[in-house]
Amino acid sequence: MDFDLSAEELTFEKEVVAFLEANHSDEVMDPNPEHLSQTVETPPKRAFMGKLADQGWLGMSWPKEYGGQEKSGIYDFLLTEALARYGTPQPGKGVGIVGKTIIRNGNDELKAYFLPRIIRGEIEFAIGYSEPQAGSDAASMQLKAEKDDARGGWVLSGHKIWTTSAHFADWYWVGARTGEHKHKGITLFLIPMDHEGFEIHPTYTIGDERTNEVFFNDVFVPDSHVVGEVGKGWTYICEALDLERFAMLPVGPVEMKVKGLIEYVREATLDGEPLAQDPVVRQTIAKLRTDLEVARKLQRKVISEALKSRVPTIEAAMYKMWQSQLGQRVADAALDLMGPDGQLKPGQDEAPVNGRYERSYRYTVVDTIGGGTSEVQKNIIAARGLGLPKSF
Ligand SMILES: Cc1cc2nc3c(=O)[nH]c(=O)nc-3n(C[C@H](O)[C@H](O)[C@H](O)COP(=O)(O)OP(=O)(O)OC[C@H]3O[C@@H](n4cnc5c(N)ncnc54)[C@H](O)[C@@H]3O)c2cc1C
Repeated sequence: MDFDLSAEELTFEKEVVAFLEANHSDEVMDPNPEHLSQTVETPPKRAFMGKLADQGWLGMSWPKEYGGQEKSGIYDFLLTEALARYGTPQPGKGVGIVGKTIIRNGNDELKAYFLPRIIRGEIEFAIGYSEPQAGSDAASMQLKAEKDDARGGWVLSGHKIWTTSAHFADWYWVGARTGEHKHKGITLFLIPMDHEGFEIHPTYTIGDERTNEVFFNDVFVPDSHVVGEVGKGWTYICEALDLERFAMLPVGPVEMKVKGLIEYVREATLDGEPLAQDPVVRQTIAKLRTDLEVARKLQRKVISEALKSRVPTIEAAMYKMWQSQLGQRVADAALDLMGPDGQLKPGQDEAPVNGRYERSYRYTVVDTIGGGTSEVQKNIIAARGLGLPKSF
């Protein structure tokens, strides 16, 4: 695995850190980032995206004709990791999933409207794949898109669930069924989120985050807002996920949690004795620190493969499973080490580390589900990596 950063890449990393220090803001940054935050809900967070754009850091790997710099994907990775360590929102969805798919497959109208707005950090997207009967097996989506030749477009009706950001995003990136074939019957559409015919209902998660159910009541979409070719949506969805996984899963948040727990163990006492004197505590911490090193190495393997223009499907599955489950192990260990007080919520006087690990214990559940569950990652490793039979 070849992964030494060049002098230019190291300089860029330092520039980003200096920028984040200079632009420190409690309204934008979470000092205890739980996971990759793609939430750009508030005006200060939107303004922060604009500042990243002013630095020329959005769409660095895009072609020059669309405002990019044709830089290696390593720059996107370095930016994502630095932003994750400071708990800021991430540009991943717009620049990565939507932008790169439009560049590869979009018509001229979509390119002209969306690409400049994405690269200026002005536009937010919600991603709509999951439905009541389509989660891990997203290709089972049933949201119906029927051709309306008289009006030159499509009429969408049905129901999406788990659409994070639907309550504040500008545009909806939606997969819908345009044909009967499971995979070749899916088409991607772009729809303004304030379009008539949408009903948005909140869903609150164990991690206090809002996601949404979205009902489509005969939502009309013109032909010009079909992404790429009709019936190729599934191919585009898979391509985007395979190519973007490494930029979407920084190791920074887990690193911060392990670091925070080591600091706690150094300072804390139990029955008047330093906690760190307990050999079981030391072994627990040593094991977590080692597991973190494994996560870093797995992540580097993903990036190293992606930079060789290989699609790192198996490596990304290994990393995603390990990294998200490690987040849970860290929170679990923290609550064990802290005793009953560990269960106190942020803001309560006696809560150790201001309830950070109580919050983490709840938030990390989501990490093992979103972006493909741990079981799905294991299936990918078994079937595609080891050639064992597929389970579905
Ligand atoms: C907080 C949150 C935010 C989300 N945001 C979005 C979003 O913005 N847009 C979007 O489209 N989706 C989003 N999702 C949906 C997410 O992608 C799905 O929840 C996920 O893919 C799992 O699907 P499911 O919930 O239907 O579970 P299911 O697929 O029904 O799985 C249920 C259980 O069965 C297991 N399982 C399923 N299939 C197999 C198999 N073949 N072999 C072994 N075990 C299996 C799973 O691992 C899981 O434990 C979000 C989810 C959450 C929780």
